[in-house]
Amino acid sequence: MRAALFESFNQPYVVKDVPVPTELHPYQMLLRTGAAGFCHTDELIRTGGMPVSLKHDLIGGHEPAGTVVDLGEDAAKYGWHIGQRVGALGYMGYCGTCPDCKDGRLNYCTKLSDGGFLGMSCQGVFSEYCLVDYRSAVELPDTMSFVEAAPLFCAGATMYNAILTAKQPQGAILGIVGLGALGHLGVQFAKSMGYVVVGVDARDEPIELAKSLKLAPHLCLDAREGVESATKAIAALNPEKPFPGLDACIVATDWIPSFQYGLDILTRHGTLIVVGQPAEKIPFHFSDLIFKDITVKGSLLASPENCKALIEHVALHPVEIKVKTYKLDDVTEMVHDLHQPGMKGKFVVEFEQTQVL
Ligand SMILES: [Zn+2]
Ligand SMILES: [Zn+2]
Repeated sequence: MRAALFESFNQPYVVKDVPVPTELHPYQMLLRTGAAGFCHTDELIRTGGMPVSLKHDLIGGHEPAGTVVDLGEDAAKYGWHIGQRVGALGYMGYCGTCPDCKDGRLNYCTKLSDGGFLGMSCQGVFSEYCLVDYRSAVELPDTMSFVEAAPLFCAGATMYNAILTAKQPQGAILGIVGLGALGHLGVQFAKSMGYVVVGVDARDEPIELAKSLKLAPHLCLDAREGVESATKAIAALNPEKPFPGLDACIVATDWIPSFQYGLDILTRHGTLIVVGQPAEKIPFHFSDLIFKDITVKGSLLASPENCKALIEHVALHPVEIKVKTYKLDDVTEMVHDLHQPGMKGKFVVEFEQTQVL
């Protein structure tokens, strides 16, 4: 099968033939890959920005969607079958015994056995066939294409989980800073979940894209225009609100000034959700937190249960998953495009569906 691997850090992906996996663990399913999303984390991994010990040529990618073509005995026992259309989170080999696994917080399992995370500590999904853990998989509705589905299994799941983590009642004002691959999905989920949504970016293209969506934010802010005008515009969304500002703000970018911006537009007693992963430390001054009683909370991808809820939610609402597709042979171009200033939406590797084992 054809696969895109990197052989050492900071080197471009190399597309070449590698064997199709034949030995499956009981919990594994082999997919004929239909589509594989390209995530910012893939770039961090390729460029050495994640704690990865590269022991072998690594196939990148962790947002797969495809058709089940083989499966281990546990996967079969739990009702999965050949021919099923699925997507999967990147987690592989949950231990099943740690306190987080027992409590259903599988995304926090720290003992992922002989697997780990796709494209980081085990082979990823930029390949014509890929292995996933059936416990990470969600069956796709017939109406959802692989290209639409793939970005939901990291970018989408991350934003959906962050919105749930904010624990806000319907009607609350929820802001999302960063309207890129993650944020453009997050604003649509939040709006269809009944929130008053404020989208923020400091670039023209993502703001225009967000405004064009059927589920466009109620208010789009350009961070370059400063906090004062932003605060006024947010206050106008609900003049009756005792304390103006966002009830919760999800920072979905790793641009350091955006965290302070998020804090500045939060209401008193508000919640800041950290999703962006900057290489540098995030600077907070105590006065930003103490005098406004601000809660700061991190959010990590999503549990399979929450991911399943997301897929069901997206199937019922007019969520537009804005993608640009690439062929596997064009991954180098895809990496190049990710670093262009006009970048918007989500990049996805789309596979031919005619290849055979
Ligand atoms: Zn990701
Ligand atoms: Zn565990």
